[in-house]
Amino acid sequence: MQFAELVQTYEKLAGTSKRLEMRKTLSELIRALRVEELPEVLYLSQGLLRPEYEGVELGVADSLARRALAQVSGVAEETVRRHVKESGDLGLTAEELLRSHPRSGGSTAGSVPEVYHVLREIAEASGDGSQERKIELLASLLGRAEPTEAKYIVRFVLGTLRLGVREMTILDALADAFAEGNKEGRKRIEAAFNVSSDLGVVAQTLARKGLDGLEEIRLTVGRPVRPMLAERAASLEDLLTRMEGKAAFEYKYDGLRLQAHLPEHGEPVLFSRRLERVSAQFPELLRELPKAIRRRPAIVEGECVSVDLDSGELQPFQEISRRRGRKYDLERMEEEVPVRFFLFDVLLDGDEEVMREDFPARRARLEKLVHPSGSDRVALATQQVADSAAAATQFFDQAIADGCEGVMGKSIAPGSSYRAGARGFWWIKYKREYTQALADTIDGVVVGAFAGRGRRAGRWGALLMAVYNPDADRFESFCKVGSGFDDETLAALPKRLNEFEVPAAPAEVLTGLVPDQWMRPSIVLELRGAELSLSPIHRAAVDAVRPGAGLALRFPRFTGKWRDDKKASDATTSAELLGLYRSQVRQSAPAEEAESPAG
Ligand code: ATP
Repeated sequence: MQFAELVQTYEKLAGTSKRLEMRKTLSELIRALRVEELPEVLYLSQGLLRPEYEGVELGVADSLARRALAQVSGVAEETVRRHVKESGDLGLTAEELLRSHPRSGGSTAGSVPEVYHVLREIAEASGDGSQERKIELLASLLGRAEPTEAKYIVRFVLGTLRLGVREMTILDALADAFAEGNKEGRKRIEAAFNVSSDLGVVAQTLARKGLDGLEEIRLTVGRPVRPMLAERAASLEDLLTRMEGKAAFEYKYDGLRLQAHLPEHGEPVLFSRRLERVSAQFPELLRELPKAIRRRPAIVEGECVSVDLDSGELQPFQEISRRRGRKYDLERMEEEVPVRFFLFDVLLDGDEEVMREDFPARRARLEKLVHPSGSDRVALATQQVADSAAAATQFFDQAIADGCEGVMGKSIAPGSSYRAGARGFWWIKYKREYTQALADTIDGVVVGAFAGRGRRAGRWGALLMAVYNPDADRFESFCKVGSGFDDETLAALPKRLNEFEVPAAPAEVLTGLVPDQWMRPSIVLELRGAELSLSPIHRAAVDAVRPGAGLALRFPRFTGKWRDDKKASDATTSAELLGLYRSQVRQSAPAEEAESPAG
C-alpha cells in the first residue's frame, strides 16, 4: 500500500469520533493490506512503531522537527515557530508550509514499508550525532512527501497522531475482517491479544491461518501476558460464597506487580502491570531470579515489596514506590530500599504452557519451581486454603499484622485457569481500607530478640515488643520491630540487652511468637506505627475485640527514644492500646464493619 492511501484513511478516521464508523474504516483498511503490511499499519495507526510493551521511542523533539521542516520548506526556523503558534499543530504547519512552498522533486513519501523503514531508522539513531542524523532522515522523508503525508509524518514523530484508534476498536475491526464480526470470533481474537500483547502478531496470524490459527500463538519469553485481574467482595463471607465455600487465600502484598520472563540463558526481563519493561529498575532481581527459579524458560508473576531484610518485615508501599520509574542512583536505591519478590503464579514452566491448568496445579508447579533457599529476594506468596469465614478471618488478620493490605481469594475449582487480561470472580481481593496513621506513639517493653541476617548478622535484627496489662500483671506482645534503628544503636543493642537475657519465656510474658532470645521485661522503647490491627499471634488486649485475636501495630518503627525514665510497668497498657484501636475504628467505621462481619 502507498503511504498516500493510508493517509486518506487517516483523514477519514480523523474526521469521525463514532466508534462504528471507525471500526468500518479500519476493517476496510485491514482488508486492503497485504499480510506483511498488517503489523506495521496497525502499529502506525496507534502512533507506535512496535507493540507498546517494547517501548520504542522516536526521540524527536519539537525543535528537531521544526528544524527539519525549515530545511525542507526553505523558510527560516523562526517562521516555522510563528506559524505553529497560530496553528497550534506542527503537523498542520508542515502541511501548509509545504503547500505554499512547493519543492522540486517532491512527489510522494512512497510505500508504507518505505516510510516505516525511515521512521525506524529515526528511532534507532542514538549516541553522538544522533540528533543531526534524525533531522537528516526526517528532512529526507518530508522532502519527498505530499503536504498531507507530511502532516501525518510530523504528527507521528512528535507522538501527536491521536487518531483515536484504540486496541479495542482494532480488535473489533479484526473480527469484522476475519470473523464476519461474530462475537465468538471477537472473543477468540481478544484472547489471543491478551496472551501476546501484540496486535501485529494477532492480525498476521489471522490473515495467514484464520481464527483457528490463533491457537498456535505461543507464550513467548520477552512478550508480556496481559495480567489477570481481581474482582472485589464486601466481606470474607461474601468472598467464600462466590467461591462455593472454599478458596485459596493469599497475602495481598502492597507493592508492584511484576511479570518476570526468564529465558533459558541470559538475563530475565521484568514487566510492570502496565506491561512496560522495568528490568533496569531492579538489578538485584535480574541477578537473583535465575538462582531462585529451578527450571527455564519460565514466566512467573508476583508482587515486589520493599522489605527489611533483617527482620523480614514488609515495608509500606511508599518505600517501593521510591524505586518505580527510577533511572539514576540505581545502586544506592538497591541498598536503601531492598525488595523481595513474592511469586503467586506461573504461566510458563520450562517448555510447558500452564496458563490453562487449574490454579492448584499451577501453585503446585510454582512451589516446585522456586528454590526455597535459592535467594532471599525471591519467595512464594503466603497461601492457605480455607473453607470457613473463621479460618479466612484468621488468615486475613495475620496478613494485616504482617504488613499486607489484605488477602486475595483465588478459585481452586475446575476451570480456574489463568485468564489473561480479564477481571472476574476467579480472583477476589479483599482489603482493609487504609486508615490514618496512628496519632500517638506507644511505649513498648522489650521481651525478646530475633537474630539479625545480612548486614545485621551476629547482632539483633528485631525486637519482640509488649505492652503492660496491669490487671493480669503481664506483658502482652503487640509487634516485632526492626525499623528505625541506626547502625550505632544496633551495634550497642547486645550490650544493652544482655543483662536481661533469660533462657526461657518469662511467666509474665504472653505472646504467640518465639524469639531467638527471651528477655526479662525491663527496657522501654518508644515506637510509632501506621495503625493497629487484629492479629492471631499477638496477645495485647486479647479477646477484647474478637475471640482469639490480639492487637498488633502495623509498620512499627523505633523513634530513637529509649525511655530509660520508665520502668516496664510504666509502659503503655493493653487498655490504652485498645482505646487507640477503638478510636481508629471509629474513624474508619465502614471499612471496619466490612472487615469483621463476625464482630
Ligand atoms: P487491579 O489490579 O485489580 O486493577 P489495583 O491495581 O488497584 O487494581 P489492587 O486493587 O490493589 O490493585 O489489587 C490487585 C493487585 O494486587 C494485583 O494486580 C497485584 O498487583 C496485587 N497482589 C498482591 N498480592 C497478590 C496475590 N497474592 N495475588 C494476586 N495479586 C496480588
